[in-house]
Amino acid sequence: MSAVYIHIPFCIKRCYYCDFITYAGQGDLIGKYVETLLDEIEAYRGRITDPIDTVYFGGGTPSVLPAKTIASIITALKGHFILNEDAEITLEGNPGTLSLPFLQALRQAGVNRLSLGIQSFDNEDLKVLGRIHNAEQAQEAIDFSRQAGFENLSLDLIFGLPGQSLERWQENLKRACDLGVEHLSLYSLILEENTEFARMLAAGELVLPDEDLVADMFELAIDHLPTRGYQHYEISNWARNVDLESRHNKVYWHNLDYLGLGAGAHGRLGERRYHNYDNLQDYIGCVDREDQAGSPYVMEQIPISRRDAMQEQMMLGLRLTREGVSDAVFRNRFGFAIQEAFPTEIKKLLGAQFVEWAPFEDGPHLRLTRQGIMLGNQVFQEFVD
Ligand code: SF4
Repeated sequence: MSAVYIHIPFCIKRCYYCDFITYAGQGDLIGKYVETLLDEIEAYRGRITDPIDTVYFGGGTPSVLPAKTIASIITALKGHFILNEDAEITLEGNPGTLSLPFLQALRQAGVNRLSLGIQSFDNEDLKVLGRIHNAEQAQEAIDFSRQAGFENLSLDLIFGLPGQSLERWQENLKRACDLGVEHLSLYSLILEENTEFARMLAAGELVLPDEDLVADMFELAIDHLPTRGYQHYEISNWARNVDLESRHNKVYWHNLDYLGLGAGAHGRLGERRYHNYDNLQDYIGCVDREDQAGSPYVMEQIPISRRDAMQEQMMLGLRLTREGVSDAVFRNRFGFAIQEAFPTEIKKLLGAQFVEWAPFEDGPHLRLTRQGIMLGNQVFQEFVD
């Protein structure tokens, strides 16, 4: 165990593209929610004995919580678990919710990394997405974060937006690089069911850019960002150096254990994955419920077979574009070399030049080629039964 994810499922308003587990207009439940979350943390006392190296407040919009509430959650983690002195503590912040005093208090509480949901520096894009912030507030959020003492900033940007041209995307990338932030996460817009965007598309009110343009936008980022000092280390992520790569997310990509807390949170503990009740009322009512599985917060547990774990190791690890999957680590964990576990799949992927073997200190690593990065989903499909 080395990582804790904490889900804060509250937002001021639902963005048009969003299908995350989050609730708008339910702010009056925050107090009860946090009480339940603190109970859940306590319930894991004594069960999590390894030191915790990363904590991630995700959402939803964690920055809708008062800073003193976030401080109380960190204090509870310290009280019940061993939290490493230099643990990476990240909080996702929505630019429409960040003031300088809030960020200063957050920094004091021990949060040392911010992931800001900027999405675009263009007001037209932000309006199309249904975000609560504008470009000016995006810039202000970054300025305030720096003034509050945050030295590790990550920005999220989305490409492939309705009406977005390659030039407009390029302008966003340039702006992000000019700001000199430490980390960038770039995602292509995915149209999810049951979102406002899905409804608009069905009603003919939304025109999305074609696949070729979206691929060009991704390639532009892959080509441009290294020239500005950002290394591509995961399909959607770039960092200024190895130490600034997301330590928390690398726990997922290395297929290691993590504790997920809060409504709808997912976790991986030992040979099982689990997810918590995602409905707010169900989660908050957990404490009164007897549960034979040992945690009243958990809605479902799924055992991970050896085969599942090997497939996950490949699908998650291949996302790491620089390091890929270490054959030595795979062998230590499962007792087989990668090629012994997946002979047909690896032969096919090598033949298609979607993957390559690269030399590392601990021996060969299998990683995506440029072509494999562009067609990642086709590669991952090989590791699904
Ligand atoms: S702020 Fe994030 S979690 Fe909240 S509705 Fe928008 S995209 Fe979804």
